[in-house]
Amino acid sequence: MTPSTPEPPTLPNTVSTREGAAGGTGSLTCVDVHKSYRLAGREVPALRGVDLTLPGPGFFAIMGQSGSGKSTLLHLLAALDRPDRGEIHLAGRAIHSLSEREATLFRRREIGIVFQGFNLIPTLTALENVELPGMLGGDEPRALRGRAEALLARLGISERGGHRPDALSGGEQQRVAIARALLFSPPVLFADEPTGNLDSANAERLWTLLGELARERSMLVVMVTHEPAAAVHCERVIVLHDGRVTAEIGTEGLDAAGVASVYQRSVRAS
Ligand code: ADP
Ligand code: MG
Repeated sequence: MTPSTPEPPTLPNTVSTREGAAGGTGSLTCVDVHKSYRLAGREVPALRGVDLTLPGPGFFAIMGQSGSGKSTLLHLLAALDRPDRGEIHLAGRAIHSLSEREATLFRRREIGIVFQGFNLIPTLTALENVELPGMLGGDEPRALRGRAEALLARLGISERGGHRPDALSGGEQQRVAIARALLFSPPVLFADEPTGNLDSANAERLWTLLGELARERSMLVVMVTHEPAAAVHCERVIVLHDGRVTAEIGTEGLDAAGVASVYQRSVRAS
């Protein structure tokens, strides 16, 4: 399958990104995606032909053992790196063929990314951390403040806006990181093991929140995880094994133990 998406020369440098993603709001297609790393003169294959289609908005999980290529795939999807071979179409763009400049704009305006380690600036308050991508882009400070406050309120941490990260709990820090990722209302949000540093109660809260955001904002939310408990919050689990998608698990009617057992079976079978 080769979707033909015309590639505009530059991305619209506006806050209303939905228009920029028209026609492809949140849909994702990977066709035969390969990626290797060079390590001490040797090729380390990380992705060996990933085929994947996610139809549009919704909350999806990518599960796989350590080293199966999850982070590599997320990096490619977020245009942080390029595949060696294959095609990636996301939110109406041919990600695999973006120039550096186009990739930078795409990441800034169309994609939100959240990592395990929160990546907050320790010397800035929660509000300033959320505003930072807009400050760097020269957005109007008062409008930015309004948006940052609204996001912190939605994520239930309004009263923490004036605090620096070291005064926040892990769960609160991750919420600040999510608010920052949502600053430009991207149609797509990626999260790489976002609850890896959280206790289980906070992890549950975060998965619920990501599911709610996907619905409320009609976003495509793709989360890398190795926790079956996370997967029950998602509508589908994509299983990655040795750099390939080896199974897709529909989670309807399954609890965490059910997802875990289907997952284990699919890994053993591949
Ligand atoms: P996961 O996130 O599922 O743990 P990764 O995508 O991080 O997997 O890694 C997939 C494979 O690629 C592993 O074998 C890993 O060692 C290798 N790899 C990842 N990043 C690099 C890198 N920068 N240099 C060399 N090898 C890498
Ligand atoms: Mg990883």
